[in-house]
Amino acid sequence: MNIASKLSEPLDWNKGDGLLPAIVQHARDGRVLMLGYMNPEALEETLNSGRVTFFSRSKQRLWTKGETSGHVLELVAINSDCDRDTLLIQALPQGPTCHTGTETCFGDLRLPPVSLLADLERVIEERAGADSDGSYTARLLSEGTPRCAQKVGEEGVEVALAAVQGDLESLNEEAADLLYHLLVCLRSAGSSLDQVLQVLARRRR
Ligand code: AMP
Ligand code: ZN
Ligand code: ZN
Ligand code: ZN
Repeated sequence: MNIASKLSEPLDWNKGDGLLPAIVQHARDGRVLMLGYMNPEALEETLNSGRVTFFSRSKQRLWTKGETSGHVLELVAINSDCDRDTLLIQALPQGPTCHTGTETCFGDLRLPPVSLLADLERVIEERAGADSDGSYTARLLSEGTPRCAQKVGEEGVEVALAAVQGDLESLNEEAADLLYHLLVCLRSAGSSLDQVLQVLARRRR
């Protein structure tokens, strides 16, 4: 990724007080982590160091998020909006972003269900090439599609049994097992959540 080229268009620093609002979002799951302000120096420091750096309005100086706590925001991408007066940053937080200890400054934001599944799919993707000693997912994938498919069948039966028995707790557990194994099976067979959701989208209305 070429961060610098994304910002080749000049930014509009002249609105207000020479600071641009910078929305920081989790690079993996999209949660909004915090909002800060940048002047040109803060932006340059962010690009040079790869750590999100703001101009702190209360400290009145450059402030690298995490400079004392260690909870830095590792820069992944940076873009501006349509009229180039707002920055949107994707970053990977190294610890809770808020000084109150929550992961985001807006509390413990819950991910929408589909984002959670997409996040799980990304983890499965990452495990695909990993050492199968340490990872159940890596081992399952290395055993091939028939094995992954068999697990989907087993978990499907377990879901059905729990539903018939009216045992809500095991129903939820088994349904979670099924969703996980379904994602592994899709991945093994060369499909993806996205392709499945496209089928559902076509069926709407
Ligand atoms: P840190 O940058 O994480 O080392 O925190 C240093 C100080 O910056 C904290 O004591 C807070 O006063 C402030 N601070 C840290 N994180 C945030 C945040 N997400 N939003 C606003 N202020 C913050
Ligand atoms: Zn704008
Ligand atoms: Zn906060
Ligand atoms: Zn199960």
